[in-house]
Amino acid sequence: MPIIVNQISFPLNATEQEVISTALKKLGSASKHAIDGEIHKSSLDARKRNDIHFVHSVFVTLDSADLEKKLCEKNTSLTYVERSVYKPVISTEKAEGKVVIAGFGPAGMFAGLALAEQGYRPIILERGSSMEKRTASVQKFWLTGELNTNCNVQFGEGGAGTFSDGKLTTRIKDPLCRYVLERFVDFGAPKEILTKAKPHIGTDNLRNIVTAIRKRIIELGGEVRFDTALTDLSIANGKVQTISAGDKNEKVSALILAIGHSARDTFELLQCKNIFLEPKPFSVGARIEHKQAAVDESLYGDHAGNPLLPKGEYQLSWRDKNGRGVYTFCMCPGGTVVPSASESGGTVTNGMSEFARDGENANAAVVVAVTPDDFGHCPLDGVTFARSIEQKAYTL
Ligand SMILES: Cc1cc2nc3c(=O)[nH]c(=O)nc-3n(C[C@H](O)[C@H](O)[C@H](O)COP(=O)(O)OP(=O)(O)OC[C@H]3O[C@@H](n4cnc5c(N)ncnc54)[C@H](O)[C@@H]3O)c2cc1C
Repeated sequence: MPIIVNQISFPLNATEQEVISTALKKLGSASKHAIDGEIHKSSLDARKRNDIHFVHSVFVTLDSADLEKKLCEKNTSLTYVERSVYKPVISTEKAEGKVVIAGFGPAGMFAGLALAEQGYRPIILERGSSMEKRTASVQKFWLTGELNTNCNVQFGEGGAGTFSDGKLTTRIKDPLCRYVLERFVDFGAPKEILTKAKPHIGTDNLRNIVTAIRKRIIELGGEVRFDTALTDLSIANGKVQTISAGDKNEKVSALILAIGHSARDTFELLQCKNIFLEPKPFSVGARIEHKQAAVDESLYGDHAGNPLLPKGEYQLSWRDKNGRGVYTFCMCPGGTVVPSASESGGTVTNGMSEFARDGENANAAVVVAVTPDDFGHCPLDGVTFARSIEQKAYTL
């Protein structure tokens, strides 16, 4: 198991070897037990314009796990980590029928990959099309305004994030976060996503990675059915018995719903089947757009344009006296604002960028948090609320 040596500050132009050597020095005499060292994360500290530098953390593996644990107990700048191996618990019970996953976004993709790698042969249903057809459908919408309600920026191979900024940020701390990043690298993502504090994969890389994951699932015996929505299901004795999708009705042993947050018709189906649903708070707002150069200048001053610096990013937040938050979210440096609707007669926007983030403009969402007290406590009241805003924006 590796340990993480935290808080190693270095100027922008330091080499990886210099950073790792400093991490080893921090371990004192224990460093002679080191068998491996690599940068874990690098984040930029640009709070003082005259002292812009990186703060790194470094993975170091010692030849003794006991020594690693002992060191971490004594020294608060060290963290002991378990390896990010994912071992699902496999049932020995025989079940009739197939395991079916509805949706091929990140949730469905990783569920399908984990199952296929453990010897299951999952059937994955995706209402949208494969990457190639989907990309054509999205391009058509952006050029002509003609929307395919089953295949668009939200629906299709790869799910809602495929035409996105490909920011791999999450606010949760879970060993599986590293597992996800490592799997992305296995399927062709740039290795730097393992070390950047704000990893970014880009829509261009993401599309190839998603296709590679689909191919792997199929090689292992899984099946991916595009243009095929889950449209019905039957439940008896507290278990899903059969599902309907396309022109087929099938007996299933398990159904994983990985349908994302925009499958409003499927939410209605679930409600009709008396499946427990509850409303959750979310945020609504608009996208703002400005010159990337202005963001870089305000953050980096004279250093703006230095190729060693990442494109400037910001995050702003404010709370009113009642505690309601307003904040910027999903800022896309060098990106574009894209129309992202999946229902006719509504306007939805999001941000997208390529790996290079070399577009002229930056954009971000400015959103306000809303709760069931604002829009209603019935399970689908949030959908009605969001839809009404989307339709008003469309009319405007
Ligand atoms: C334009 C855009 C940009 C984004 N950018 C980022 C970003 O940079 N970073 C980030 O972290 N997050 C981003 N997000 C959010 C991110 O995409 C979602 O959090 C993530 O996709 C959720 O994953 P999921 O698998 O749960 O659902 P989804 O990705 O929504 O996938 C659900 C899939 O299920 C399918 N489906 C729905 N109903 C059915 C049915 N009945 N039968 C069969 N299939 C069905 C849909 O077609 C869809 O492909 C972005 C979202 C959008 C729309």
